[in-house]
Amino acid sequence: MTVNLLDLDAAGLTAFFAEHGERPFRARQVLRWLHRCGQADFAVMTDIARSLRDELGSLAMVVPPAVISDRISDDGTRKFLFDVGGGNAVESVFIPEEERGTLCISTQAGCALDCSFCSTGKQGFNRNLSVAEIIGQLWQVRHALGAWQGPEANGERLISNVVLMGMGEPLANLDNTVTALRLMLDDNAYGLSRRRVTVSTSGLVPAMDRLRDECAVALAVSLHAPNDGLRDQLVPINRKYPLRELLAACQRYLEKAPRDFVTFEYVMLDGVNDADAQARELLALTRAVPCKFNLIPFNPFPGSPYRRSPTYRIRRFAEVLLEAGVVTTTRKTRGDDIDAACGQLAGQVLDRTQRTGRRTLVLQLDRQDACT
Ligand code: SAH
Ligand code: SF4
Repeated sequence: MTVNLLDLDAAGLTAFFAEHGERPFRARQVLRWLHRCGQADFAVMTDIARSLRDELGSLAMVVPPAVISDRISDDGTRKFLFDVGGGNAVESVFIPEEERGTLCISTQAGCALDCSFCSTGKQGFNRNLSVAEIIGQLWQVRHALGAWQGPEANGERLISNVVLMGMGEPLANLDNTVTALRLMLDDNAYGLSRRRVTVSTSGLVPAMDRLRDECAVALAVSLHAPNDGLRDQLVPINRKYPLRELLAACQRYLEKAPRDFVTFEYVMLDGVNDADAQARELLALTRAVPCKFNLIPFNPFPGSPYRRSPTYRIRRFAEVLLEAGVVTTTRKTRGDDIDAACGQLAGQVLDRTQRTGRRTLVLQLDRQDACT
């Protein structure tokens, strides 16, 4: 069977070459061609013997997900839609800023966790993305940005940060996510520091422990409620891993985390979780965990049962947290004119869970402002 080399990290490529009687340094060579130069054509990999290049041509391929569309917002935010086969598509969003460029990528076609304010969740779940489909988003966006210029060049300045905050729950696709993360961190590939790669999770406790042990990158946790009663409604996985367990997992994670805090994401839902008293409850709840808060103004989608908290409410909620000495930022909504904001990532998911009682083809998901 032909192997897609974008599915393999350094260890996988080393094993692949060993199987074919080749020495480990081949893995490093190929890794650099693929992920530092963006090359898919074995013929140009000139430091590899011609006989091996010919062999690679018959044993392997380099196939990223195809770009279906590429749209640029008035504020420079750029949204990519990728075909992942079988009628499914996922999205990535590139957010350029003065000092950095952040790419927000997807890890699943849909999501099975069904948070009540999330339009990815409302689409249902189709399947996990492969490593090639996850890292291939980075690969393709670098191509689109013109970030490859030669064997030693890389797109660090253009894509300085990667956040796994697009469609899907990264920790529900842990093996592929970890392999893709290793490629992001590998100096022969994307060479990003662990602090510049952030995984966002709704709180899959056992997988948080595994991530810590296997590839501890920066962690963001989608909290959204100050108590179990409310979180059970907003983030149903809370019924399985309630707040006490989740916060204990955050503390364990911090033992190995590249940053000395966890970022708690908190979507601001009008009249649901945005009262001053709830901010104070949040402070009491998270007292033992070194953390920062990132407040996300809710981005509505067709049929969503919530409204975004008014600006003055978000400001007041932030003030309560700030007055207690907790660093708190409010996420800017960017790219909403092209539906690229957090909660607006469209995608296209053929729901295999049939949660809605029929197969759904949802073209317009809503997740505004994805990434910080
Ligand atoms: N599944 C992971 C990562 C993807 S979601 C997680 O839940 O953390 C990335 C962030 O977008 C999460 O904090 C999520 O709660 C938030 N989000 C989802 N839908 C949203 C919406 N409609 N408006 C604002 N933020 C939303
Ligand atoms: Fe899934 Fe995250 Fe959306 Fe919840 S918020 S349904 S975990 S993508």
